[in-house]
Amino acid sequence: MQKIAIVGGGIIGMTLANYLDQKNYQVTLFDEPTGQATKASAGIISPWLSKRRNKQWYQLAKDGAAFFPKLIQDFQIDHTIYQQSGTLLLRPEHQLDELLALAEERKASAPEIGTIERLSGEQTQQELPLLKPLSALKISGGGRLDGKAYLIHMRKKAEEKGIHFIPQRVQLADEQTILFGEKKEAFDQIILTVGPHLKELLTPLGYQVDLRPQKGQLLVFQTAIKNSGDFPVAMLDGEADLIPFLAGKILLGATHENDAGWDLRETPEAFEQLTSGAHRFLAEPEKLLAAPSHYRVGTRAYTSDFAPFFGSLTDHVLVASGLGSSGLSTGPYIGYLLAQYLNTGKAGWQGYQKELSQYIHR
Ligand SMILES: Cc1cc2nc3c(=O)[nH]c(=O)nc-3n(C[C@H](O)[C@H](O)[C@H](O)COP(=O)(O)OP(=O)(O)OC[C@H]3O[C@@H](n4cnc5c(N)ncnc54)[C@H](O)[C@@H]3O)c2cc1C
Repeated sequence: MQKIAIVGGGIIGMTLANYLDQKNYQVTLFDEPTGQATKASAGIISPWLSKRRNKQWYQLAKDGAAFFPKLIQDFQIDHTIYQQSGTLLLRPEHQLDELLALAEERKASAPEIGTIERLSGEQTQQELPLLKPLSALKISGGGRLDGKAYLIHMRKKAEEKGIHFIPQRVQLADEQTILFGEKKEAFDQIILTVGPHLKELLTPLGYQVDLRPQKGQLLVFQTAIKNSGDFPVAMLDGEADLIPFLAGKILLGATHENDAGWDLRETPEAFEQLTSGAHRFLAEPEKLLAAPSHYRVGTRAYTSDFAPFFGSLTDHVLVASGLGSSGLSTGPYIGYLLAQYLNTGKAGWQGYQKELSQYIHR
């Protein structure tokens, strides 16, 4: 039986662990979650109307979103973790026309976009009463994922399968040996799903890795709204999006801070930026934005062309990173594809990315 180590228990690592064929592998997952992006994330799954021109990324994100029904079924994920809530896009009128045309064009190859509707101000408010009566586009296929709840659920499933968890930060002694605490252990395969930390793991082995950390902060407001779980996600014009969850929890986020390195402190500047960005869209901004119950802060991984990468680095090392701001759409599918590769020997990721050597080389 082969020994596999997964390093990193975010959305990729935890999904991968659950899709690995336990009959063939003895699996250990190492994770020390400081700054983890998945736990901090806002939860938006709605990649179809992105203006990004990278076709490979779009294909991956689209297929990643289409993968959700399988994921939900395979692991009995309920509405407290993922919900197809629908997405509202709030933009000036002329941009809504463009978005409508784009949505209809993309629906031809992505039916999971669902129904596409142009909403009047009154209809927008009926959908999400927190908003002013502003025109919007609604797509019914958009969803929201509670990243933290997803990981808790998937960890339980992985433990039931016999996967062993070690909550420690590790280093690599070589491509088959992991150092943790005072210990050292050899594996047949090591899979590195450590987000932006891939660079620090591979640099001592002589690799150059094209990755940088980006800080993200969001605000969590606890309201008394009972039916918040029925509301759609609102992608506002600008950086601040509004993501309603169950039991009155409303998220506002997130910042994209390129110069903050690994800093995980919550800042008044983030509060100011996010609340002022949302202010003009809200029916009663003072009431909603009075005081967040807490902040969430995490570190995203970015490559210089903003595209993710994943695959086989050597005979013994697989990697996946660079998921940026859309890792909730792409991460579970990447985890699945990596697991399929280990289970069957077949790499099903052609067409989704450039050569791995674009991002990692000696
Ligand atoms: C504030 C914020 C909001 C976001 N909102 C959205 C959103 O709405 N929609 C969306 O699609 N995406 C969103 N994202 C992005 C998304 O969260 C990430 O792209 C995705 O979660 C990355 O998953 P991952 O598994 O690659 O990495 P991570 O979730 O970061 O997991 C990597 C794990 O590896 C651990 N690790 C690192 N080094 C080591 C080591 N040496 N030893 C042991 N463990 C280690 C880390 O601590 C962490 O636990 C957001 C991100 C942030 C920060």
